[in-house]
Amino acid sequence: MDIRNFLKGGLEQVDFLKSIGLFPTPRVINTASTKPVVSDNEGNSYLMFCSNNYLGLATNPAAIEALIDGAKKFGVGSGGSRLMSGSTTPQQELEKSLSSFFYGLGSVLFTTGYMANIGAINTMVNPKVMPGVTLNEVTEIFSDEYNHASIIDACKLTRVKVNVYRHLDVDDLESKLSISTAERKVIITEGIYSMDGDIAPLDKIVKLKEKYNAVLYLDDAHAIGVLGKSGRGTTEVFDLKIGRDVDCVMGTFTKAFGAIGGFVISDKNFSDLLTVCARTYIFSAPIPPSVTLAIQENFNFSILHGGTLRRKLFKKLEYLYSKLDENKFTVIGDRQHIVPVLLGEESYGKKFSSLLFDSGIYLPLVQWPAAPKGKSRLRVTVSPDHSLLQIEKLIYSMIKVRNSIKIHA
Ligand code: PMP
Repeated sequence: MDIRNFLKGGLEQVDFLKSIGLFPTPRVINTASTKPVVSDNEGNSYLMFCSNNYLGLATNPAAIEALIDGAKKFGVGSGGSRLMSGSTTPQQELEKSLSSFFYGLGSVLFTTGYMANIGAINTMVNPKVMPGVTLNEVTEIFSDEYNHASIIDACKLTRVKVNVYRHLDVDDLESKLSISTAERKVIITEGIYSMDGDIAPLDKIVKLKEKYNAVLYLDDAHAIGVLGKSGRGTTEVFDLKIGRDVDCVMGTFTKAFGAIGGFVISDKNFSDLLTVCARTYIFSAPIPPSVTLAIQENFNFSILHGGTLRRKLFKKLEYLYSKLDENKFTVIGDRQHIVPVLLGEESYGKKFSSLLFDSGIYLPLVQWPAAPKGKSRLRVTVSPDHSLLQIEKLIYSMIKVRNSIKIHA
């Protein structure tokens, strides 16, 4: 069969998106995309306000040095999965550092946060190592409706019933838990939501976990490094204990730590199990040792200087929030480091974001499926390295764009 015929439904959708101007066209950047100022191939400069480089560590010179030295010693790749091709010292050391930062718990590295969720959620639901023992028949998942795509995909792979509860709605979660007859129940939530900037009521969710004898899986990808007094994330914000209140915490090195890679923190028994059961750990190559050394550098740096970086970050955020409020933009979320500015209908949002690009602001529209239909938004982020002047330029451009759309509407 002709491949275009085979893909008909999908290709029609692409044509449709193109015809209404909503097909995403990421700009090509030829500088570090994590810095406050980036450039494209035509020599245009933009102020970057959408990187997850929350602590500004992506271009930390010490991490770059570590990566170069690491590549000289270990090469650029890892050669194969850790079980097959060997577990290198940088990977072992990073796991040790994570364990000691997280109260001596077990830790396992994954190549990305996405793979950490796929591997860990599936291991939790069905911790079988040998064929013949399946527990997924007696298990149900309870998942927040706005959970990240990697969680949704992980849940699908488990092939168990997934009860989707309304976003952050503990009453809805409880009503679903209370009627479930599953022997094993897994609740899955994010700490701070990546597109909405709101924090899950973890304390209340933990109470429900206890009441209904469930286990709790937390994706803290956007919180670790940023939230909590020492950057341990949402569990620290709520003073909860990993391994008791929250059974398993997933994090990523892609955001606050400025690199790539995922990890899972849990009781040592679960982390041992991950290394023999999580297929994304067993059957895929790990973060290369050179990159692992760079992550280690940033991780150490964040332990030593995280407090200062977070203070700087939140000072910039305070300024940003005050300017957005002053100028009556609709900001949603819990006023943390993810700043969603609601624009609404997609065609308006697309125009807004495109005019922002024209005025030198790099801020693509977040639209369906990353956000609900009709609720497109700008997801603004800053790093400690953004200047107040750059934030002012953002606000000035947003006001100008808003006015120009009003005039031409
Ligand atoms: N979980 C959440 C909540 C995320 O936002 C993301 C990435 N945007 C991931 C997991 C996946 O992390 P990674 O980019 O490291 O694969």
